[in-house]
Amino acid sequence: MSRILVLSDIHGNLDALEAVLGDAGKVDAVWCLGDVVGYGPQPKECLHRLANLPHLTCVQGNHDAAVTGKLDLYAFNREAILSIQWTRAQLSTTDVEWLANLPEKVELQEVTLTHGSPRNPIWEYLLDLNTVHINFAHFTTDFCLVGHTHIPVLYTYVNKKNGNDKDEGYVDWMIPPPNRAIKMIPRSIYNPGSVGQPRDRDVRAAYAIYEPESQEWELRRVEYDIRAVQQKILAAGLPSRHASRLEEGW
Ligand code: ZN
Repeated sequence: MSRILVLSDIHGNLDALEAVLGDAGKVDAVWCLGDVVGYGPQPKECLHRLANLPHLTCVQGNHDAAVTGKLDLYAFNREAILSIQWTRAQLSTTDVEWLANLPEKVELQEVTLTHGSPRNPIWEYLLDLNTVHINFAHFTTDFCLVGHTHIPVLYTYVNKKNGNDKDEGYVDWMIPPPNRAIKMIPRSIYNPGSVGQPRDRDVRAAYAIYEPESQEWELRRVEYDIRAVQQKILAAGLPSRHASRLEEGW
């Protein structure tokens, strides 16, 4: 049985990334759903750690794209802009090229990987059921994995035919219980939450283990030294809000 580590939104938080890699144990592949950098104090270390993991597939997030100059900064808030500019100054040309060369969307067997949504990989947030519903028409694989919102969730498309055989399907959703494997139902969209900046009021780093043969998904949470990361954020001169939010999980 193979195990695939699915992670997203590391955001320069090396302590959280190390906690996740340690907790995940032996895996056969690593799939990263973008935003390796931004907000956090160790973008270079996170990028190098991730890039050297065996069997890595990584897509590009909006912060990754912004650091490379691909995106205009006007769409980000002031504190995000400060951290993007600070991050850019920490990275070498080779690091920036690595981020610039990340694909926006990848299909691996029965799974589509992307950062925001299959319709708009870099920018769109899957936060409401109407937007999610529309997005089911934008991938053809059984499953789609996304990040970007920093909130673990799963959405399933439920087929429902009316008398004229017209599809009137709807979207069902749930927040998977942590540390318990669930059976994956085609077609579904999964978000493993965020490694480096969880926003569901659970301060622990979030990630998932995907088992392709059994089609199981296990959302996992792991504690890390938040205080240490906060100190690094403040020492780097990054906005203090990036530090305070970590202990509240938003
Ligand atoms: Zn993010």
